[in-house]
Amino acid sequence: MSNLVWPLYPPAFLGILGGGQLGRYFVQAAQDLGYQVCVLDPDPNSPAGQIAQEHLLAQYDDIDALRHMAQLCEAISTEFENVPANTIDYLIQEGVFVAPKSFAVSIAQNRFKEKQFLKTCQSTMGIGPVDYAVIQNDDQLQSVQALLFPGILKTAQLGYDGKGQQRVQNLTELKQAWNTLGKVPCVLEKKLDLAFELSAIIARGHNDETHLLPIAQNIHENGILHLSMVPAPNLTQELQEKIHLAAHTIIRQLEYVGVLCIEFFVLKDGSLVVNEIAPRPHNSGHHSLDSCLTNQFEQQVRTLAKLPLGDSRLLSPVVMLNILGDIWFDKNTNVIQSPAWEKILVIPCAKLHLYGKAEPKIGRKMGHINFIADSIDQALMGAQQAMDILGIAPLRK
Ligand code: ADP
Ligand code: MG
Repeated sequence: MSNLVWPLYPPAFLGILGGGQLGRYFVQAAQDLGYQVCVLDPDPNSPAGQIAQEHLLAQYDDIDALRHMAQLCEAISTEFENVPANTIDYLIQEGVFVAPKSFAVSIAQNRFKEKQFLKTCQSTMGIGPVDYAVIQNDDQLQSVQALLFPGILKTAQLGYDGKGQQRVQNLTELKQAWNTLGKVPCVLEKKLDLAFELSAIIARGHNDETHLLPIAQNIHENGILHLSMVPAPNLTQELQEKIHLAAHTIIRQLEYVGVLCIEFFVLKDGSLVVNEIAPRPHNSGHHSLDSCLTNQFEQQVRTLAKLPLGDSRLLSPVVMLNILGDIWFDKNTNVIQSPAWEKILVIPCAKLHLYGKAEPKIGRKMGHINFIADSIDQALMGAQQAMDILGIAPLRK
């Protein structure tokens, strides 16, 4: 795909590696602007594949599929975090504009590289990652410092939604946990006393133009995002400035083009720590579909087509509630039954989104609801009403 004139105009084909819900919203945002989209995903029923102009049903390292994608698409992005670096490099070699590049994606894919990278940014940002130890062999395990307990053992790769994580109180539990995780490379992180969690979603164009979406405050349950609030109720001016600096430092140091999410912890003592980065739009930015002038997926499309970034200013306070597969299962009989969506659709501030996934599973993200209201408190009341209807446990105070 050489001799292209940028920016790329519709109806050109854009490609997306991965066909989950993030890919589905990428497809919708691209199609809204008149582009066509080709999705690569091995799942025949993938949420993005269902609605794209083309769905390549193949693995992420399938050379024939990649060659076809490179011929069809002028520019390709990723939504699946574990796309092999070689896949991205191959597409670039074929002359496609790929954003983000494998350098950034491979850092975000591996907790060792990610933490090392965050350390290199620490002097500029003034904040760093969680204290941690690398666990790759028995010696490293034995010599773990006592101050890392109680801790959380996390696999270095392929973890998401709290998967691949075990909480450990002491060395004995650490040994057991590492065995349970199959002795794969891990990091042991100190379990921090969190006051609350924040996330920043930042877009960067090919010409270094950047745009930060409004910062979200997030509540996780069992390692899975449960609810996001924007504006973040506990965000101070000082935290906002620190996050602004951190987000810009990280995205520039990564030479990143596209949409990037950075998760932060605010500790009980008020200090700010970087948790992790995700090289793509993020669940905590799903509110932007209904609350922002330009949502995170449209920003991804714009960065990919080398168009100017949009203004993603917040149009309304919003609460986003994730819908997991759990609520399809009857608590007594375990029989699967679709939730009564008509009861949600009558809540005036609720905007329901479902991802078209055929099979509900425990912990599987099936959709989300955005509650748009005049204040976060009102939006939370709407969310609470929906949680009561759907049988989701109320928020812990
Ligand atoms: P994932 O890649 O699955 O999102 P995270 O590292 O973000 O993994 O962990 C998921 C959630 O678990 C976090 O959002 C936070 O609520 C909790 N958590 C993770 N690490 C720590 C830690 N070191 N201290 C306290 N809570 C943590
Ligand atoms: Mg996380």
